[in-house]
Amino acid sequence: MKQFTYARATTPTDAASSAAAHRRTRFIAGGTNLLDLMKLEVETPEHLIDINRLGLDAIEETADGGLRIGTLVRNSDLAADPRVRERYPVLSRALLAGASGQLRNKATTGGNLLQRTRCYYFYDTAMPCNKRHPGSGCAAIGGYNRIHAIVGASDSCIATHPSDMAVAMRVLDAVIHTVAADGNVREIPIGEFYRLPGDTPQVENVLADGELITHVTLPPPPPGRQVYRKVRDRASYAFALISVAAIVNFEDGRIADARIAFGGVGPMPWRDDELERAAAGVGSDEVSLRTLAENALADARGQGHNDFKPVLARRTLGAVLVEASGRTDA
Ligand SMILES: Cc1cc2nc3c(=O)[nH]c(=O)nc-3n(C[C@H](O)[C@H](O)[C@H](O)COP(=O)(O)OP(=O)(O)OC[C@H]3O[C@@H](n4cnc5c(N)ncnc54)[C@H](O)[C@@H]3O)c2cc1C
Ligand code: SF4
Repeated sequence: MKQFTYARATTPTDAASSAAAHRRTRFIAGGTNLLDLMKLEVETPEHLIDINRLGLDAIEETADGGLRIGTLVRNSDLAADPRVRERYPVLSRALLAGASGQLRNKATTGGNLLQRTRCYYFYDTAMPCNKRHPGSGCAAIGGYNRIHAIVGASDSCIATHPSDMAVAMRVLDAVIHTVAADGNVREIPIGEFYRLPGDTPQVENVLADGELITHVTLPPPPPGRQVYRKVRDRASYAFALISVAAIVNFEDGRIADARIAFGGVGPMPWRDDELERAAAGVGSDEVSLRTLAENALADARGQGHNDFKPVLARRTLGAVLVEASGRTDA
């Protein structure tokens, strides 16, 4: 691990301005991703700013009936919060599907949103990787790419975003709140937060240097049944090959409104707007729901080893839609 200096911030604005005043700074929250990357020298910050004493660890009601989640709320506390379990079960289930109990006790809301890809070549400094070392190439293209993207990839990078929590937040239309070094605050809808890789895969989101996430807000939950399902190589302690978050509202035996997002498919939690439009009016019988699911991710393309993913994503969605309709045998 390379040497670095360390400071503990006491206010969000201090944290952001201190980050802007130093070269190669990183905030450290739970440290469960950042420290691993530093040990491997994938990340080599010169200065770490510990944000654990900022007091941003509360979950509060908002005036419009939603929730305000401090960036330092631990994943386990968020999953267990009675308001989240009752009103946002898709979020609670997504969190509980991620990592392990010990990791969830450390991992924070902001850190989870900003965790980096699990592409194995990204972690292996002996291999070319445009995300780690811009311009060096992409070892996953033409390499072993079983866990890689089927949508949103580019000729520079085919990595996926690994977060379960962010997929649920995507169907909940979460908003990410930040503060910059000059004290300016921003509200960024999660649908506009992550960036496609294009030819700059090292730039993963719209945050400026030193911009700190302070909290995330959730609007009031939309009507409908919420489901999160994750398909992975082991029953626990594994990242998603495919995950689906859905909120489906049935009225008079038909879908009135559906929100559907996938994890494990692209560089960001992937919402399929076209499919959501096509869902309106579809019958709640199993055949109609599974037929609808066959139309998901129309532009998906495998990279070789992951050619199974489009099929797996559609089958997982089919099961999720049937579960959302109230059947228990999906
Ligand atoms: C073995 C293992 C298995 C895992 N399995 C899963 C899984 O199945 N599903 C899943 O979703 N996740 C999984 N994870 C990832 C885990 O969820 C993340 O490591 C964790 O959520 C990151 O949160 P943290 O607080 O520890 O972040 P840190 O490691 O502290 O930070 C991560 C990044 O976010 C930045 N950052 C943190 N907070 C802020 C802020 N407020 N503002 C701006 N920048 C900030 C840091 O600078 C850093 O770049 C796994 C991790 C491990 C080690
Ligand atoms: S897919 Fe992206 S992260 Fe993985 S090796 Fe290629 S450039 Fe690097």
